[in-house]
Order: sequence, then structure tokens, then C-alpha cells
Amino acid sequence: MKHDVIVIGAGIIGLATAERLLLQGAKVTILERNKIGQESSWAGGGILSPLFPWNYKNDVIQLTNYSTKLFPAWTSSLHKTTGIDSEYETCGMLMLPPFDRDTAINWCAKHGINVRQHIVSNVSCHIEETYIENTNKKTRNQTLFLPDVAQVRNPRLLQALKKRIVQLGGEIIENCRVNQIKASNWQTQSITSSCGEFIADHYIVCTGAWSSKILGTHALKLNIRPIKGQMLLFKFAKPPIRKILVRNDLYIIPRQDGHLLIGSTLEDVGFNKQVTVSARNYLLEGAQNIMPELEGMTLIQHWSGLRPGSPDNIPTIGRHPNIRNLYINCGHFRYGVTMAPASAEIVVNEIINVPQPLDISPYQTGWNSN
Ligand SMILES: Cc1cc2nc3c(=O)[nH]c(=O)nc-3n(C[C@H](O)[C@H](O)[C@H](O)COP(=O)(O)OP(=O)(O)OC[C@H]3O[C@@H](n4cnc5c(N)ncnc54)[C@H](O)[C@@H]3O)c2cc1C
Repeated sequence: MKHDVIVIGAGIIGLATAERLLLQGAKVTILERNKIGQESSWAGGGILSPLFPWNYKNDVIQLTNYSTKLFPAWTSSLHKTTGIDSEYETCGMLMLPPFDRDTAINWCAKHGINVRQHIVSNVSCHIEETYIENTNKKTRNQTLFLPDVAQVRNPRLLQALKKRIVQLGGEIIENCRVNQIKASNWQTQSITSSCGEFIADHYIVCTGAWSSKILGTHALKLNIRPIKGQMLLFKFAKPPIRKILVRNDLYIIPRQDGHLLIGSTLEDVGFNKQVTVSARNYLLEGAQNIMPELEGMTLIQHWSGLRPGSPDNIPTIGRHPNIRNLYINCGHFRYGVTMAPASAEIVVNEIINVPQPLDISPYQTGWNSN
């Protein structure tokens, strides 16, 4: 079998990369160990922004800023071509204290990010109003609102991408575990998998938390490791809040149909996806402090996912330093959904050798991590 490009791994990063390649006229085969889009990309919250953006390096921010600008056109075109609505929505994000408000306001001013400091007049919904009324003046004055932050319903975005890839002639092979990347003379010769050997012109590793594992000795000093996150799901008759609420590491995301997601933990426990009672209680307690309405509600689902953790949240995107036709697009840690369209664009630009939309050098240092 001879393919132009083989994409390994069908999470949001592999699927976005495959779609972009197909739009460039490449012949694409995606090899996925299980079913497509069942790992971190499904488990995530779909917030299209870093949580406290002022706490991140500029290398993260330039990628998330560029990527979020691609989302409206991307999701709208996927909706038109597939009929699947991924519910892209600019719902805004309400940042609840404690955090350093002066740092936040200065950072937003410097980066041209819209921020509202007098949120009382902007809250439109009962629970948000109750929260604001019930908090003392000092706390209230510490709250900030980022009106331009959007969200997407990530499981639906994955479904839309799957359908679009098939429409564009891409081949998706599920239940196909890649075992080894065989390289010699600075070139990948083939890959071996549970469903046979594959040969292509280019190979792109998009295997999230499993990327260092699959690269084996070709991983060099790449430092990508699983960081577990647990999430809770509730359902209201109609959305009890409209905005994403964030306090410390805890966030509450309202979906349009009344589903409410609560996340998330950050656990460095290896490839272990077991959900725990302690995490459930921690998330529930934190969420009930913000939204007492959650008391007595039935928990619909509790799950976990393995984020592809990387130093400083900076992904590695592009050509392998020693192997000409091997590329990776991995290590997006907490913000892989947000970074997906930009990361796909970068890796595809590199393959077809066209200028990049931003400085990509920060995303090529991961091979030398400690
Ligand atoms: C609880 C939680 C909340 C999150 N919230 C957000 C958020 O609000 N916003 C945001 O932007 N990001 C969020 N994220 C992060 C985001 O989900 C990840 O950064 C992103 O999903 C990474 O995508 P990926 O495609 O690299 O990895 P994955 O989705 O994990 O996909 C990797 C794929 O590779 C496959 N694979 C692995 N090994 C092999 C092999 N040997 N052969 C073939 N296939 C293989 C896997 O089966 C999998 O399908 C969250 C993550 C979690 C866990």
C-alpha cells in the first residue's frame, strides 16, 4: 500500500490535520488504535481559551490567539458541509477570585483582549445574578469578565470532522494500533501496526499522551506524559447559566441544551483513567460553592481523560529533527481543542513548504526538553 500521508491517532489533532491535508489534495489514511475521538479530545471541556491566560508564556498565547480566530469559519464550514453543528458559541468567561486582578487587567490591555470589570450590569441570568449578589463587595470587585471567550461542543466537533474526512475521500482505519516507526538513512521506511505494514511519503504522529511511547527511540528528549483530568456532567431543563465560570482550577461550562460540565483535576498518575470518589467530591464541592443549585441534582456522568502533558503547555509541531518525512503534532496539554486548527495549519504548511502564519520556532524546541 502506498499513501501520500499517514496520520497516526484520531483525536482532534489528528482529525484536524487530516482534514487540512485532504483540502490540500493529499491522499490521507488515518490509523487509530481504538475508535476515533474517544480519548482526551472527547473528554475535554471545549473552552476555547487558556483558563487564566496571563499565567501562560507568550508561546502558548500566540498559538491559542491565532487558533481561536480560525474557529468561527472552521466550525461554520464543517456545519455546512456535514450538517453537524458543533455549537461554537461566544459565551464569555467569568473569572472569579482569587487571582491577581491588576496583572490580569494589564495583561489584557497589553494583548488587546477585551475585558469587563463592571460585570454586574452584564449578567443576564439568575444564577450568575445570585452569585454576584451573594458575594461581598470586595469579592465582587475582584471578578472579571472576558466576553470574547468561546466554547465548542468537542464530541460534536469530532463527529463533524470524521464525516468531513470521509466526504473528502480520506480513509479512517479504526482498531489499528501502530507498533513501530521503522526509520533508516534519515527517512521513515514504513510503520508496522496491528493491521499490517504501511508505506507512505509522509507520516504524522498525532497520538496525544501516547506520543513519546509510539516514537520510541525517535522521541529523543520529547517530554510528553499523560496528565489525567476528571469531569462531571449534570443536566438542567434549560441552561442555568450562560457564561463559563472559572475559579482556581475549577470551571463550569453551560451547554445550550442544559447540560452542565464541571472540571477538572490535574493528576500526574500515568496511564490510569480510573475515576475517583475524592475527585468527584472535590469537583462537586467546589462547584456547589459557586452554584448552590447543584445540591441534590443527579450526577449524570463522571469521566476522565489523559491530556498530552508538555512542559509549559507548549506543543511540539513539525518535522522530526533527524528524520525527513516524519512529523509530529503533539503535546497540546490543556488546550488541544483550542490549538487544533492552528496546529493543523502549521504542520501541513511545513509539509507543503509554504510560509507560516506565525513564528513556529517555539513549537520545535520540545525535542530537547528535560
Ligand atoms: C478533562 C479535560 C478537560 C479539557 N478541557 C479542554 C478545554 O476546555 N479546552 C481545550 O482546548 N482543551 C481541553 N483539554 C485538552 C484537550 O482535550 C487535549 O489537549 C487534546 O484533546 C489533545 O488532542 P490529541 O488529538 O493530541 O489527543 P487525543 O484526543 O488523546 O488523541 C490521541 C489519539 O491517538 C490514538 N493513539 C494512541 N496511540 C496509538 C497507536 N499506537 N496507534 C494508533 N493510534 C493511537 C488514541 O487512541 C487517541 O485516539 C482537556 C482535556 C481533558 C482531559
